[in-house]
Amino acid sequence: MKTLKRVIIALLLFILAAAAAEFHAVFASGLTMVYMYHSVSDVPFNPDAEEFSVLESDFEDQLRYFSESGAETLFVTDLTQPEPEDGPRRVVITFDDGYEDNYTKAFPLLKKYGIKATVFMIAGKIDRPGYLTSAQIREMTESGLVSVQSHTVSHEPMAWGDKTYEDAVYEMGESKRLVEEASGAEVTALAMPNGSVDATLLNIADDYYTAVCTDADYRGFLNGSASNPMDIHRVGIYRRHSVRDVRRMTEHRALYVMKRGLEKLLGLD
Ligand SMILES: [Zn+2]
Repeated sequence: MKTLKRVIIALLLFILAAAAAEFHAVFASGLTMVYMYHSVSDVPFNPDAEEFSVLESDFEDQLRYFSESGAETLFVTDLTQPEPEDGPRRVVITFDDGYEDNYTKAFPLLKKYGIKATVFMIAGKIDRPGYLTSAQIREMTESGLVSVQSHTVSHEPMAWGDKTYEDAVYEMGESKRLVEEASGAEVTALAMPNGSVDATLLNIADDYYTAVCTDADYRGFLNGSASNPMDIHRVGIYRRHSVRDVRRMTEHRALYVMKRGLEKLLGLD
């Protein structure tokens, strides 16, 4: 009985300490929420992955909210810029994989609301059915509203499986070259497929990139210039999320992060 009590107290203390650490990070000044979308389409690009396609009306509601709340939207590559004191709330919108609906569905809405987004393109999918074409990438880039960055060449997770060092160098270097060729702009950010990463991969990435998105989890916020741009975490937005959810995440970051952090610690994730 006594042992059980001790275990429970130790567990509670552990949870409190973890929560305090999260709180400390969250309340540090000038946090920027970093969101990860994939596709915007009422008809999912893949019926087995419906969650990855946000409804078009939901996406518009979310952009309207960002716009009306006066949030400043940034490219991932601008995250290292120091944030102004008492500036507007900062939000980073990203899209992974480079689905064609990023151009046909999302881009018109980004233009309508004047909102910036970063697309992490699977370089090997440029000009392939269902994905962005070189011309679309170029047009979006030239609009000044979309920054197209790298999501490797093949999209295979790199920190496990049988990828060699040379494979990783190719995935990072060649994807940068291919996306730059399509967009006509410099590529300095990388999103790791499945968030899979290790120290060796980050070392290689350092040769090509100044910003790397790793895990997609509840810690999808950044303390601007004080954060490590080589380990950016993002919060995924899926079909189940309404504008209310996005507003809650954006305006009540502390509570949201606390809740998700506790859920994770307690294995309820
Ligand atoms: Zn991906």
